[in-house]
Amino acid sequence: MPQQTPGDSLPGPLPEWFPRGMALLRDPSLNKGSAFTLRERDMLGLCGLLPPHVSSQEEQVERVLENFRRIESPLERYIMLQSLQDRNEALFYRVIIENPDEMMPVIYTPTVGLACQQYGHIYRSPRGLYVSAADRGKVSSVLRNWPYRDARIIVVTDGERILGLGDLGASGMGIPIGKLSLYTSCAGVHPRRSLPVMFDVGTNNESLLEDPLYLGLRQRRLTGVEYDELMAEFLEATQEVFPGIVVQFEDFANHNAFRLLHEYRDRIPCFNDDIQGTAAVTMAGVLSALRVTGGALRDQSFLFLGAGEAATGIADLLTAAMVEDGMDEVAARQRCWMVDSRGLVVRSRMALAEHKRPYAHEHPQVQDFHDAVEILRPTAIIGVGAVANAFTREVVEMMTRLNERPIIFALSNPTSKSECTAEQAYAWSGGKALFASGSPFDPVEFDGQRFVPRQGNNSYIFPGVGLGAVTVQASRITDSMFMAAARALAESVEQADLEQGSLYPSLLRVRDVSLRIAVAVARVAFAEDLAGIPEPADLDAVMRDQMYDPAYVSYVG
Ligand code: NAD
Repeated sequence: MPQQTPGDSLPGPLPEWFPRGMALLRDPSLNKGSAFTLRERDMLGLCGLLPPHVSSQEEQVERVLENFRRIESPLERYIMLQSLQDRNEALFYRVIIENPDEMMPVIYTPTVGLACQQYGHIYRSPRGLYVSAADRGKVSSVLRNWPYRDARIIVVTDGERILGLGDLGASGMGIPIGKLSLYTSCAGVHPRRSLPVMFDVGTNNESLLEDPLYLGLRQRRLTGVEYDELMAEFLEATQEVFPGIVVQFEDFANHNAFRLLHEYRDRIPCFNDDIQGTAAVTMAGVLSALRVTGGALRDQSFLFLGAGEAATGIADLLTAAMVEDGMDEVAARQRCWMVDSRGLVVRSRMALAEHKRPYAHEHPQVQDFHDAVEILRPTAIIGVGAVANAFTREVVEMMTRLNERPIIFALSNPTSKSECTAEQAYAWSGGKALFASGSPFDPVEFDGQRFVPRQGNNSYIFPGVGLGAVTVQASRITDSMFMAAARALAESVEQADLEQGSLYPSLLRVRDVSLRIAVAVARVAFAEDLAGIPEPADLDAVMRDQMYDPAYVSYVG
């Protein structure tokens, strides 16, 4: 079984199993394409199989970019990058790492959403593992089919709530694949250490069930005990086949997301990025904004538009941070308010979902978001309800009357669901808004000033959390780790970023930021006695050493 990639150093002679000739060119983890040197071609049976010119990796990157930029359709760009990943993994990661602003919206949101919607129609080659309801009783043998025993992180979805697109069943596989590519590009988690899993329990999406090219189980979703038993078997098998592997839950519907996290977080190393990753990246943005206003976290009040996974996760982490700053927990929760599709979440509302209850305060009902802003006078509004244009001119103007520097985060994705655009936030607040978004927005010129809004992108957080947890073999992933990650991210924002209105660092620095986060997370693991290795003297160096480098190495000395 190949245990080498172009990103590894290659000590000593080539092992027996090392492929030659066409088999080598067809192995994406080893292939260098036209970059094989003449000596490698000679010794590895490649003479004549490649054009005579030996390319450098830089030339190959240039060729990829030229082709990529010629393609106009985002979906075709996605397909092109997928086939590059299937052909030459090192080159794929080099392209992503060097061009994050251009590539990340293609390998992940928003384009990955389009790819999932079309999954059965654009499918070309297998990637990741499918664990389905048909595998009950033999899930561990399915996991054993995965060729790399050193997998250390699983991203799993059941496809029920893919981004803002709803139930996409097995077509949701694009999400774990995309997330794990981000682990490698943003934090250098070795590609072989990651395992994308589609937990296919069926779909209730009629159009998929009727689509002849749909690739998932053609049945309605398992629910109740059947769902829970299969999930329990799967999670148990993950730890049996890959002891200590980190499991990231991704894009589960509310009714399973909170429940699964609650049930398993103290039993295996796992987390939910939609809840906890979002919380950390948003809290980092708030901390950056407070560096501008000079305010203290404990003096803020937050009004969320939306009361789902993102809102609850963010409110929980902000509450924990306020408690850490010495505030009483009840008072801290009282600083977080939520408006959902039925208005302000208040105590008197009937049949409130469990996750909303901690934020259902004693207050008369308020129906409208604008009225809620006027009455509650928040210092920050956070849009996570996927309601396009909900931050109206009146709302932003009201926030600006209430606050010298209003914090306005329009986090809903995709761009069409954004609560307001960057341009609107700056224009309507007279350049005062401290703005972050869920989707990318171009820089804005306003009143002679150039603002560079940045995305509150989860990719700043989860890759570093994963790298840190995996490197020190953390047995649990705790809220303190996400808090440490948020603080490390906020500390990575430079004064120059803040001066141009950026509450996050440039994505070009994401690998350094992830390293910093990984070290912070590892320190928490040691402090909480959750690490599986002794604390190294130079944690930073150990972590850096773990990071995958897509530069080619010579296979023949
Ligand atoms: P969710 O489905 O768990 O929650 C959505 C919430 O919005 C629910 O509470 C729902 O009641 C509420 N809602 C629906 N219609 C509403 C209306 N008309 N008015 C007020 N509230 C309404 O989804 P989620 O995971 O919490 O994600 C919500 C949004 O946040 C999505 O658009 C998602 O893309 C975005 N998000 C962004 C980031 C990021 O930028 N880093 C991270 C996570 C989620």
